[in-house]
Amino acid sequence: MTAQIVTLPGDGIGPEVVAEGVKVLRAVADRFGHRFTFEEALIGGCAIEATGTALPEETLAACRRADAVLLGAVGGPRWSDPTAPVRPEQGLLGLRRELGLYANLRPVRLYPDLREVSPLRPERLDGVDLVVVRELTGGIYFGPRQEATEERPTAYDTMVYTAEEVERIAHVAFRLARQRRGRVTLVDKANVLATSRLWRRVVASVAASYPEVSWEPMLVDAAAMHLLRRPADFDVILTANMFGDILTDEASMLAGSMGMLPSASLGEGRRGVYEPIHGSAPDIVGQGVANPLATILSAAMLLRHSLGLEREAQAVEAAVERVLAQGYRTADIAEPGTQIVGTARMGDLVVEALAG
Ligand code: NAD
Repeated sequence: MTAQIVTLPGDGIGPEVVAEGVKVLRAVADRFGHRFTFEEALIGGCAIEATGTALPEETLAACRRADAVLLGAVGGPRWSDPTAPVRPEQGLLGLRRELGLYANLRPVRLYPDLREVSPLRPERLDGVDLVVVRELTGGIYFGPRQEATEERPTAYDTMVYTAEEVERIAHVAFRLARQRRGRVTLVDKANVLATSRLWRRVVASVAASYPEVSWEPMLVDAAAMHLLRRPADFDVILTANMFGDILTDEASMLAGSMGMLPSASLGEGRRGVYEPIHGSAPDIVGQGVANPLATILSAAMLLRHSLGLEREAQAVEAAVERVLAQGYRTADIAEPGTQIVGTARMGDLVVEALAG
């Protein structure tokens, strides 16, 4: 097949890890006889420096034309003033909003060879294979707000959800659960929040169309505990924007490192934005040590969700598993007895495993 892929390397280690994602996608195209073309565009801090805005018009136009977008990370110390009128994360939020990407999928899978890297006891991790489905364009990050000032030292943020917003994300979670182990956990705070009670009501009615999927509600505080106590029990976690933001960072520790976790942001069509869940890691930028596997696994999700290439996606995931089984590690997931490699070498190893 032919596909047009836009890459948005962004800031910090973004360009280093996206280069490896592209390397692997080119290898997939060669091996499976596809034609992928790549177009690079600016987002985040580098876009602010070049154009004065975090999401230039040309970038948005390129993304609208593309079949899929592979993104690195945005932000860094140079743009860290939270009161600045133009900030790198506006690029990400704007892109999601403009492309209507309301569903964020974050799979957390434990690679058996990384059992020892997680801070959790290895026996707790057996069978961990879950996906967090996080609502991405609504909730408290987007509701009406008031900043505090010297004269008026009161601030507020507002969590707003409509039934339609909940319904469409609930369908994403139930469709996904149907292809997996058939279980949805709705994580909310329904004992306190009116929005959460709306979520429960809407999810109950959506669930009626999926008789083969079971579901249960769980309060977010309890979910935070159970994710560490019995993580293997979760299949699909469905949750609102802010709860998902927090729980996925917690869940990333099950996998051992932020450098291992991919994500997909999807809307109504097939086009999606794929990115590692980690940030621009200014502490290791330019050293060639960043773990590119989260980006490479994001590229696998791109093949699966935007291009419909399931066999190719599985080939990439299997290649990553093989490289880890051979004992190769980037520094963030290294243990005694493993061989530490840099960012580019790790990408090469995945390409070699893909061919083998
Ligand atoms: P971070 O994810 O960048 O880094 C947290 C820690 O994890 C650091 O020690 C870093 O070295 C390590 N790390 C992250 N990715 C790694 C990788 N691939 N390989 C090895 N180690 C890795 O989070 P932070 O330090 O809180 O934020 C740094 C900047 O990134 C900030 O400007 C923040 O706003 C931004 N950020 C961007 C995104 C995004 O673009 N989606 C997400 C989170 C943070």
